[in-house]
Amino acid sequence: MTGISADRVVMHFDQFTAVNDVSFAVEQGEFVTLLGPSGCGKTTLLKMISGFLTPSAGRIILGGRDVTRVPPEARDTALCFQSYALFPHLSVRENLEFGLKQKKVPRAERLARLGEVAEKLGLEPQLDKLPNQLSGGQQQRVSLGRALVMRPGVILFDEPLSNLDAKLRDQVRVEIRRIQQEFGLTAIYVTHDQAEALALSDRIFVMNAGRVEQADTPEVLYRRPKTRFVADFIGGANVLEGKADGARQVRTAIGPLPLPEHADVGNGPVDIAFRPEAVKLLSASEEGALSARVVNRAFLGHFTDLMVETGGVTYRIQARETTLKEGDTAHFRVAAEDVVVLGDGR
Ligand code: ATP
Repeated sequence: MTGISADRVVMHFDQFTAVNDVSFAVEQGEFVTLLGPSGCGKTTLLKMISGFLTPSAGRIILGGRDVTRVPPEARDTALCFQSYALFPHLSVRENLEFGLKQKKVPRAERLARLGEVAEKLGLEPQLDKLPNQLSGGQQQRVSLGRALVMRPGVILFDEPLSNLDAKLRDQVRVEIRRIQQEFGLTAIYVTHDQAEALALSDRIFVMNAGRVEQADTPEVLYRRPKTRFVADFIGGANVLEGKADGARQVRTAIGPLPLPEHADVGNGPVDIAFRPEAVKLLSASEEGALSARVVNRAFLGHFTDLMVETGGVTYRIQARETTLKEGDTAHFRVAAEDVVVLGDGR
């Protein structure tokens, strides 16, 4: 059983607190992504899990064992970085074998593991090449293979796809998920790319300023963000301040929006959010509908993104098909179930 948990983990660098009282539990076989903007503490948390940093306070538990002060090589973890972390002067075979030799794994066992991983990752034809003779995607596969041959209980990924172009990123991403599931590995994956996190993860821990702000499945994070930060960071929701008026609606600077049935906000100030794609465009103004002036139109293939403005507030709406252009007035509705109440009423 190789689950991981953190118990009130803190990391100070001098006066600065990079990770601030973080606790979580990751199940055996779960794929969890640490997602957040640059500097929010993702890598610092990953380094504490892998043993390259010792927390200032708190405990890291790996497979039921307190490893807070255990060095990296004595933990059941392996790290997979960006592809440039390969040894350039060693062949693919030597790169893959490197960690096993260091751990003094016997030759027969080494060859068996190497064979298995090379086959699973389609690297057999590349074994005698040097890293610079491989494509970016192949290099990333070697990097993944180097972690996998160690047969870790937990695999840790630090932005492994950031060196690859968009198409290759998608391919390698699918491969990472397949391999993680095939090997039944517990995975912790660091990224600041929300699309990557949504596509890969069983759960995402959204980090902000050293804290985990929300830990949930991709679907829940997307549909029910709990805070302004999460609503904005995942999917770029429109976040508005408003005032509930007791009639199941919220008055905002862009007009009144309906409240979902389960929302228990009473009367008073409330922050709400709705997704650009949740609006339903109307051909003309209707009672209870919102209106906005189009300030920018961007055709993005499968939908059109409209930057609009109402009462001095600029926000985004999207439509599958529309002839609206800059200067036109858009009329639209947002359904009550697409309005999310943020925070605890404020
Ligand atoms: P990125 O996506 O840019 O890699 P991150 O979320 O992984 O960001 P961390 O690398 O964990 O962020 O850094 C968190 C904060 O801690 C940053 O403000 C960083 O400057 C600071 N920090 C990290 N390592 C050290 C260190 N060794 N000494 C001092 N400050 C550090």
